[in-house]
Amino acid sequence: MRDIPDFPEEGVVFKDFTPVLLDRRLRDRIVTDTVDRRRGQVDVVAGIEARGFILGSMVAHALGVGFVPVRKGGKLPAAVHSQSYTLEYGTATLEIHQDAVSHHERVLVVDDVLATGGTLAATCELIERCGASVAAIELVLEIEELGGRGRLGGYDLHCLTSV
Ligand code: 5GP
Repeated sequence: MRDIPDFPEEGVVFKDFTPVLLDRRLRDRIVTDTVDRRRGQVDVVAGIEARGFILGSMVAHALGVGFVPVRKGGKLPAAVHSQSYTLEYGTATLEIHQDAVSHHERVLVVDDVLATGGTLAATCELIERCGASVAAIELVLEIEELGGRGRLGGYDLHCLTSV
């Protein structure tokens, strides 16, 4: 990943994930590593908008399970559960279709970066409000100094790398 200073706001150094997607071997290694760790443990993959859609779809395909998009507020067409949360830079709302996951399904949550943990905490809350359970969380990069892992203490969380 490359550092992009002052994005999306002055003072924020954004970890740009797009070079990872472009590198076919690295991208495939990330998917294979994730799938090897979680095979047989999950019924569905949930990906967080937007980079979690890309990685999560590939992981769902490789695992042979369905994919659920967790989207920013106002984007999903059917009845939703909504959860507001605090970001490293501002506030936001995430939503999931109420019928996206069934009671007692085991959900693997996939995203690219763990920063403050607000996005993942909101996502886990949404999944649990549907009556499903969070089997595990898979990420590519953890920004340790932001302490996001501390907000996700109860979950099986794996990051491929950290800064
Ligand atoms: P958090 O809620 O943990 O503060 O932020 C994580 C969410 O924001 C993730 O969905 C992630 O994609 C995005 N995000 C926050 N900071 C960065 C960053 O530096 N690079 C990338 N690629 N995504 C980020």
